[in-house]
Amino acid sequence: MKIYITRQIPDAGIKILEEKGYQVVISQKEGVLTREELIQALKGQNYDAVLCLLTDKIDGEIFEVAGPQCQIFANYAVGVDNIDLIEAKKRGVIITNTPGVLTETVAEHTFALMLAIANRIPEGDKFTKEGKFQGWAPLLLLGTNISKKTLGVIGLGRIGSRVAYHAHKGFEMKILYYDPKPNLDFEKEYQASFVDLETLLKESDFISIHVLLLPTTHHLLGESQLKLMKKSAYVVNTSRGPIIDELALVRALKENWIKGAALDVFENEPNLTPGLVELDNVILTPHIASATEETRSKMSEMAAQNIVAVIENKEPLNKV
Ligand code: NAD
Repeated sequence: MKIYITRQIPDAGIKILEEKGYQVVISQKEGVLTREELIQALKGQNYDAVLCLLTDKIDGEIFEVAGPQCQIFANYAVGVDNIDLIEAKKRGVIITNTPGVLTETVAEHTFALMLAIANRIPEGDKFTKEGKFQGWAPLLLLGTNISKKTLGVIGLGRIGSRVAYHAHKGFEMKILYYDPKPNLDFEKEYQASFVDLETLLKESDFISIHVLLLPTTHHLLGESQLKLMKKSAYVVNTSRGPIIDELALVRALKENWIKGAALDVFENEPNLTPGLVELDNVILTPHIASATEETRSKMSEMAAQNIVAVIENKEPLNKV
């Protein structure tokens, strides 16, 4: 059996595949493979499985080049918006992802962003390191409390509910949520309220986005939605960049329609919308919300276990 991995990942999963006796070929390129490089890597190689990343666009052409013996594309991510699922289904190619193992890490990163933007941590760090600190001052870098404020969670799935857990249990925040499906058990446990998007936008002090990227969630937050938010509110996005209209967000931040934003994901990654980096009321991290050693290692194991299951004609645990 021959497996192709589109970029170096933590060893744990590679070991699982090698211990099975599979031949594992890993891209030796430092960065993301271009489309042409991915096509060349797969062409005529007859791989039985491909372990791919969210930065690889996987569509009909890629399935075609990989060949009919290639049974599975195991995505090293929970989001699968980089894969044409309809085309995969048509061809009988199995797609798997890595849900659950990254939930706590992404929720922690979300909270780190929320605390950092509200407490102006990056601004304070820069100010101090630049030697501008002249002593304690009553009006220096005033931020905003998080405790007892209202958090609006858009997309109450695994990660969204973990963020709500920290908010409610740790910071006594009031939780509003918007999702296609209400969750009555969750509402009871966290005294949360299921509301429509408009109400969530109008009433929240912090908004955290955890939906999947779908045609229906693309630009879920555009100009009119950002204008509904409180002027004192913050938005945090650790889901997928295109869920926010980034041009509209830059205007919202520049013109103070809202107080601030913290983003781990961007509309045209790795490119940033002009104007974003110059703003003090935004924090940017380079799509690292799941990037802890433990979690990336578990994702590697999970993707490999999905490949092993498919090759051994078993149902993979994380079939999309
Ligand atoms: P999940 O499937 O458990 O949760 C997604 C939730 O969104 C579900 O409850 C679903 O009902 C809801 N939803 C779907 N359409 C919606 C809509 N139109 N409006 C509101 N809610 C809607 O997924 P998860 O494991 O919580 O992951 C969520 C997303 O986080 C992933 O799809 C991925 O894009 C992103 N993610 C990002 C990183 C990162 O590194 N920044 C890491 C992991 C996951």
